[in-house]
Amino acid sequence: MKIFILMVSILLFYCGTSSSPKVKNPSLEISGSKLPLRELQDGLYAILLGKSFYPNRLTNSDIRDGESEIVFLFYLIKLEKRYILIDTGTSSISNPDITIHNWISPDKILGSAGIKPGMIGEIILTHFHSDHSGGIGLFPNAKIYVTPEDWDALKKTNRSVNSKLVAKERSKKVQFVNSSLEVFQNFRILLTGGHTQGSIAVEWLVSSGKKFLITGDECYWIEFCKQGQGLSSEATFSLSNNKEFLDYVSVLSSSGTKVLTMHDPNILSLGEEVFPRIYKVD
Ligand SMILES: [Zn+2]
Repeated sequence: MKIFILMVSILLFYCGTSSSPKVKNPSLEISGSKLPLRELQDGLYAILLGKSFYPNRLTNSDIRDGESEIVFLFYLIKLEKRYILIDTGTSSISNPDITIHNWISPDKILGSAGIKPGMIGEIILTHFHSDHSGGIGLFPNAKIYVTPEDWDALKKTNRSVNSKLVAKERSKKVQFVNSSLEVFQNFRILLTGGHTQGSIAVEWLVSSGKKFLITGDECYWIEFCKQGQGLSSEATFSLSNNKEFLDYVSVLSSSGTKVLTMHDPNILSLGEEVFPRIYKVD
């Protein structure tokens, strides 16, 4: 009888262990020891979608000829369980104006860091152009902060995501920004209205020694932004709004704020690449 009970116990033990799933992540095992799962820390990240070349006359008020390499970036802020995107990148390799080289879809890049599309709770759209807004349909739960002007422009110009935009409106997931708005403490959306009619920028004062200004496309190159040099009339909705904002950028920059843009390849050297194409910049 004792032998029978022993055999049943052994059988149950093996059945029990074999039926439970074996969680294994080979990349996390080093010489037999299991490391804790690597997670994205709280902070600010620049995310690289791809690269291309773009005419200088559209990125700088002082240079008329030639073209320069630009990168396509958007930003992620992680604060505990809160995930905020500043722009979304685009969900296709090309838009009407430009083809993005080495493009990877934004949801795939975020996925490599364990961030699923449904985890993105908020998106701040700096302006409606498709290289900034084209990924909006990838994030079903996100509330969108956008100016009414650029929301209308987005609906008119980006027909591929139009039905998703209408669904966002119906489910009350669009917050229209009509004036400067504090999204959370010391994190503000600023109306700029230079690049497009409803373009915005983002200012985040994390602490006295850690301050960021994300310019959208009001300027492209960090070094020129710091000097208050923005866009040509060809690349603006309002040259005077653009100039006014760039004056503000140069004042903030001289008092220690870190200026971040959406297309300057130098951004990638500001921080460590903690996951493929995800750079920690704070
Ligand atoms: Zn852009």
